[in-house]
Amino acid sequence: MVLVNTREMIKKAKAEHYAVGSFNVTDIEMVSGIVAAAEKENSPVIIQFAELHDKYVPLDIIAPVMINIARKASVPVAVHFDHGETFDNIVRAIRLGFTSVMIDASQDDFKTNLARTKEIVKICRPLNITVEAELGPMNREGGGQKVDYVDLDKTYTNPQKAKQFIDESGIDMLAVAYGTVHGVYTQKPNLNFNRLQEISKLVNFPLVVHGASGLADEEYRKSVENGICKINYYSEMVHRVALAVKEKLEKESSNKQLFISDVSIWEKELVEKEIRQRLRVFGSSQKA
Ligand SMILES: [Zn+2]
Repeated sequence: MVLVNTREMIKKAKAEHYAVGSFNVTDIEMVSGIVAAAEKENSPVIIQFAELHDKYVPLDIIAPVMINIARKASVPVAVHFDHGETFDNIVRAIRLGFTSVMIDASQDDFKTNLARTKEIVKICRPLNITVEAELGPMNREGGGQKVDYVDLDKTYTNPQKAKQFIDESGIDMLAVAYGTVHGVYTQKPNLNFNRLQEISKLVNFPLVVHGASGLADEEYRKSVENGICKINYYSEMVHRVALAVKEKLEKESSNKQLFISDVSIWEKELVEKEIRQRLRVFGSSQKA
């Protein structure tokens, strides 16, 4: 199947009220496990590579792997560059063939975020590349889970600001903050579905959630009901797979000679199993 444009994939998800899972990858096993899961669930899927994961594998090495596996898939697969923080790396990702990119200038003030986002939209538009941006105080686990009850905008995305940002930037999808954080959760997140609903009603636009691995199934469903069309999922997946590999190593090393290539096969199978469950919860199964 041809590589699919993320915009079309997300549009369909919004119209049919489900979310597309967007899973980060850092090796071939993850890419093939995720795509195999999508094929078995007959689901669309997004595989993404985050700029900060360059320490695991360089962008120019993993990008062709992602694109080749996506092209051979029997279901729609989009290939996304996640958390692009620099103009140069975003342009590199576009040149390598990604069908969408995220410009993450969310740490900047509103005006700078908007200006940097517009710069990316300007180069992506003629190339038909989908652009995701982020607005709001999205934090890392451990750093910012406290809710500021006096000024909710310090914890969550402001709906009016989201509308202004969407209108002025020309982006295709927006990551918003309603209480999720990046990383593996060590305490329950303070999700604010009222805030998500307010944003969604006002903007009527494809919304993205980051830091979404580790939520309860019901919280994913509520997120989708309230306008989330793309769910970024990573930390919990790789953590759980690592623990399962550890268990298998301990169990199987006593009765057979092990090779690191055995671990590759386990990794792919474990990722596939985990992703199939997620796709069902996100509602994208049978939507390819
Ligand atoms: Zn993120």
